[in-house]
Amino acid sequence: MREAGSLCLALLLPVVAGLEFSYHHSEQLETFLKEVHQQHPSITALRSIGRSVAGRDLWVLVVGRFPTQHTIGIPEFKYIANMHGDETVGRELLLHLIDFLVTNDKSDPVVTRLINSTRIHIMPSMNPDGFEATTVHDCYYSEGRFNKNGEDLNRNFPDVFNSNNVTIQPETQAVINWIQNETFVLSANLHGGALVASYTFDNGNPATGFLQGYSRSRDDDVFIHLARTYSSNHASMYKGNECGNKPVFPYGITNGYAWYQLKGGMQDYNYIWGQCFEITLELSCCKYPPASQLQAFWNDNKAALIEYIKQVHLGVKGQVLDKHGQPIPNVIVEAKGREHICPYRTNRHGEYYLLLLPGSYVLNATAPGSGSILKTLLVPNSPENFSALKYDFVFPEVSNLARDASCPTKPLYQDFENISAAVKPTLHFLALMTVLYTVFK
Ligand SMILES: [Zn+2]
Repeated sequence: MREAGSLCLALLLPVVAGLEFSYHHSEQLETFLKEVHQQHPSITALRSIGRSVAGRDLWVLVVGRFPTQHTIGIPEFKYIANMHGDETVGRELLLHLIDFLVTNDKSDPVVTRLINSTRIHIMPSMNPDGFEATTVHDCYYSEGRFNKNGEDLNRNFPDVFNSNNVTIQPETQAVINWIQNETFVLSANLHGGALVASYTFDNGNPATGFLQGYSRSRDDDVFIHLARTYSSNHASMYKGNECGNKPVFPYGITNGYAWYQLKGGMQDYNYIWGQCFEITLELSCCKYPPASQLQAFWNDNKAALIEYIKQVHLGVKGQVLDKHGQPIPNVIVEAKGREHICPYRTNRHGEYYLLLLPGSYVLNATAPGSGSILKTLLVPNSPENFSALKYDFVFPEVSNLARDASCPTKPLYQDFENISAAVKPTLHFLALMTVLYTVFK
């Protein structure tokens, strides 16, 4: 009996063993990604988006039915892990996520529909130098948090609320370029040291409500939904009190600023300048736990990682076209009452993507010099369909568009009184909401 059992096990092993639950150092990580791409060339693309200070590649594996380039109507999604080199769980989770996606394409219906409908970019390590520098596995702070120049990459992005006097690091610049070159819609940034889903803003000013200890974006309802999607699909994050000495987080979520303020963070940058909704996932009480716990972490996070990607299909998407059917880039398309600090614009294919919860919205498409088109739309619960509601705007006449219009690159309102006229209505509305919130809290 015993021998027969061992034989069966031996026969099964090559199939069920899969990717090991161990820490993959840079060379092993690179080998794994190259093997995945080799074995699944039609649904993956592998590229390095830049190099770390020490010259290590910043690898991104893309999974999708059309992995090598953007396809009109297919939203771009990303996961980034290990931005702090000593926070290691996310790095391994993303390798397992890759393995899970590519091995379940065409067999698992959810995975198949995700791959059909979404272009999923996965960066297991944004700070490979920090990871390699963390020689002692520690649950708490270590030097490996920083990049090789000693900079904290999650304080290294431009900040809309304050001047951020830091030298932008190669890792940060690579991510900024990547964000500017793709039309990312949704993202998450995987960290460790707590168990909570944190959402923008991390920084703020009186207009965003920081005087009340919470820095609120116009899309706060969407961010709360996104964070709760992750926490409620996680094995225990939703309980909110898993890390003992850490604060208790109702439903396992928190506004970034309400937890602690930070300047130059990646999630605020994504939302403000990248037209991408990003949340920060703290996935382990211990920053660098023993490898023996990795399988349990994967089991705890697998459903949440998948369900979160589906949320890229929230809301509405479409193109802005002229009367000849030609796409118009740089048209501002926003939902009324949800205008962004830096207006969200159509990409080079004339596309827009707006993450919205189910409900009725008035969309406003504004082509500079050609006026606005308003459209009321009833947005369904679209993630279940793996597609946002589709609506195209057509402009009958288009005159001299400023096709190179771009977002501001400097802080917009360090001084609340000196904000530009264009931004004022937004801020007045926010201030009003803050008052209401305070009254009814
Ligand atoms: Zn971190």
